Amino acid sequence: MPPRGTGFHPSSEAPPNPDEVAIKREREIADVVIAGGGIIALAAAATLRPALGDEARIVMLAPPAPRIQSRDPRAYAIAPSGRRLLEALGVWQALENDAQPMEQIIVTDSRLDDAVRPAFLSFIGRADNDEGGNAKGFAHMVEAQALREALLNAVAIAKIDTRTVRLDTLTLESDDDRIGVGAESENVIAASLLVAADGTRSVCRESAGIGWIGWDYPQYGLTGTIAHEREHGGRAYEHFLPCGPFAILPLKERRSSIVWTEEKNEAKRLLKLGERELLSEVTRRFGHELGELRLEGRLVAFPLSFGVARAFTSGRVVLVGDAAHVIHPVAGQGLNLGLQDIAALAEAIAEAAHLGLDPGNPRTLSSYERARRFDTNLMGALTDGLVRLFSNDHLPLRGLRDIGLSLVDRAPAIKRFLARKAAGPQ
Ligand SMILES: Cc1cc2nc3c(=O)[nH]c(=O)nc-3n(C[C@H](O)[C@H](O)[C@H](O)COP(=O)(O)OP(=O)(O)OC[C@H]3O[C@@H](n4cnc5c(N)ncnc54)[C@H](O)[C@@H]3O)c2cc1C
Repeated sequence: MPPRGTGFHPSSEAPPNPDEVAIKREREIADVVIAGGGIIALAAAATLRPALGDEARIVMLAPPAPRIQSRDPRAYAIAPSGRRLLEALGVWQALENDAQPMEQIIVTDSRLDDAVRPAFLSFIGRADNDEGGNAKGFAHMVEAQALREALLNAVAIAKIDTRTVRLDTLTLESDDDRIGVGAESENVIAASLLVAADGTRSVCRESAGIGWIGWDYPQYGLTGTIAHEREHGGRAYEHFLPCGPFAILPLKERRSSIVWTEEKNEAKRLLKLGERELLSEVTRRFGHELGELRLEGRLVAFPLSFGVARAFTSGRVVLVGDAAHVIHPVAGQGLNLGLQDIAALAEAIAEAAHLGLDPGNPRTLSSYERARRFDTNLMGALTDGLVRLFSNDHLPLRGLRDIGLSLVDRAPAIKRFLARKAAGPQ
């Protein structure tokens, strides 16, 4: 893919005509520019402040909030590693009272109208105890809106210079020491490093000429909150139905978040239904175990895709979060991967500062890329494999996978391994 914008070239390539580089146009200097306004951009801004120190100039270019954000119905399963990062930022403390530990995950593999859904596999979260012997759960469920507000607060405390600008006209211009970032009518900002946290369709990634390998799934992820009559007891369910997984994830106060994978046309039809008909379709999939159900707010459809950037850095640009990789939400690990990116980047940058190097130097960025490649590829392959294995109704395959699942359920060592993977990064 050819680089967008003007004059961007990775520092390993031939030097540009000096008349073309940003340094001529620059009117502002910063240490780091972060592009993006989602959870990962906010977490990156708050995390890079302690890594770079109080004097560092960090600018965040956040696009105007998309309408979806005002009613983002998602809830995230935050893995232990993500929780530790949020704790270090002082963000977890604001969230923990409303965070629901996941005590157990039950996996079923059945058809939509099967009267009984036997549990082929179940993981108990109590295997993962803290020093005091308290159950920590696999992960904690946190609602998107609460996480966003807590991070916005952390960004304000970290004194990040935040500007609202559209990123679609972004231009990047680079020489060996600086990258010039020009967005909309803003001045060009010449920084040591550009952190691209602008999501799957990252303009920064495209402008930097970094390629992308990926595909769209033929389904949407319908997500929303369901209130129910009975306590869920911290149990999460993953029902593998022929059209894709239907996940029920426990929230506080007799509520659960659902992530319902459905073929695109069928998803569109479902979203046009009246509330009563939609609730009846939800109930067919959710089951009756938790008593009467009620939809809390609307369901929102998210397109689902898989993709990974061909490189996580180029010149003085580094990709984090969905700008670097996007995976199916079947295992609830997309955001967790992004939080791990940030932790790895902050560590590499703090080490560079220790050695007197600037945050965007090539050594630091390649150490970040090395740290993140393997985990990302592994999680991408696992989630894509799971979706392909389970999203079909091929009889012999169903028989085989059910035998496999129940064998795993009886093999404690394999189960412990899978439980750790289901819990997400420790
Ligand atoms: C249905 C569903 C359920 C999921 N469940 C989980 C889960 O349980 N656990 C998990 O780890 N992951 C989960 N994920 C994945 C997770 O949502 C993504 O990995 C994560 O949101 C990526 O964050 P990001 O900041 O990199 O990208 P994005 O959230 O896509 O944000 C990037 C882009 O959107 C813009 N943007 C977004 N919001 C704003 C805003 N308010 N203001 C300005 N700009 C904004 C950004 O600036 C940028 O351009 C789920 C995904 C889906 C679709």
